[in-house]
Amino acid sequence: MRPEAVAAVTRVLTGCFGNPSGVHGTARAARQVLEEAREAVAAALGARPREVVFTSGGTEADNLAVFGVAGRAGGLAVCPAAEHHAVLHPIEASGGRVVAVDGTGRVDLDALAAALHDGVTLVSVMLANNEVGTVTPLAEVAAVVRARAPRAVLHTDAVQGAAWLDVASLAVVADAISISGHKLGGPKGIGALVVREGVGLTPQVLGGGQELDRRSGTPDVAGAAGLAAALVATVAGRSHAARRVAGLRDRLAEGLLAAVPGLVETVPRAGALPGSCHVCIGGVEAEALLVLLDRAGVHASAASACASGALSASHVLAAMGVPPALARGGLRLTLGVTSTPDDVDRVLDVVPAAVARLRGAR
Ligand code: PLP
Repeated sequence: MRPEAVAAVTRVLTGCFGNPSGVHGTARAARQVLEEAREAVAAALGARPREVVFTSGGTEADNLAVFGVAGRAGGLAVCPAAEHHAVLHPIEASGGRVVAVDGTGRVDLDALAAALHDGVTLVSVMLANNEVGTVTPLAEVAAVVRARAPRAVLHTDAVQGAAWLDVASLAVVADAISISGHKLGGPKGIGALVVREGVGLTPQVLGGGQELDRRSGTPDVAGAAGLAAALVATVAGRSHAARRVAGLRDRLAEGLLAAVPGLVETVPRAGALPGSCHVCIGGVEAEALLVLLDRAGVHASAASACASGALSASHVLAAMGVPPALARGGLRLTLGVTSTPDDVDRVLDVVPAAVARLRGAR
């Protein structure tokens, strides 16, 4: 976690025990912390404070957007096939439509246009893909949505993108935005959904009417303060970090291409997040590779980890049309703001050796 976030969480946990919904002084002190966090999150995302709904993370924010908007008046929800399951599964569960993506994971705008009509009430398109890092041209998506489904709310899952991209300007076209603390160096279990004023939202958690009646339950004040501190630090250091980390990522990708025969970059780097390095390695099972990498201290990933920690096949690579044999060797190396040149050197030592070992073992 970012030190600023640790400090903010610790300050609340050690000095601010009140329930922000109460009326006495201790409660008011907690309320002030919560509202300051809301103001900071709103400013970082180009929103108004009253548009920020704190949630238990990105998954809840996405679910709230889909069920809270599309669930109204029997509307139809639409999303691309490479969305995170936190969007995809609610949209499928609500009877919505899933549209094609291109070979980089970006939504196919023609397929999107063809799926839209007056009855569509929600379109959800992620700002950047969490597996391969591809960034969505959200303004182009918005133009299609406004032209073809004028009643639809445009939601963007910015959980992965917010660590690197200027959400305030890129998502200005969106009516709702999801973010999550742990993707920014903040705590796990806290996130937010921005819902622009005037967008109707049916709450999915009923109770005491907190968060302006959009999400009941005693708010996680420490989490909100940690999320806000992480987001403020992210925004302040973003352009420098993005340049530095993109340089590291480029060196990593080029080093892997040179050292591992049969390795291909999954998407063009130019259109991907600075911290994303996704490759596919022919003739290698990612699951076996991850075990060897883990033993050597390289903590990488393949598709998304499900709750059991087991790997499931990547629905993102499948949607992109990556042949299954190649997708089985999909390796997701993610860099963050704390990544160093030494980390890259280490990965460049470990990955080629591990791949050679697996190939030799056949
Ligand atoms: N959306 C995207 C794009 C993600 O990458 C993630 C987490 O990995 C989520 C949603 C879910 O967020 P959370 O882990 O905060 O529930």
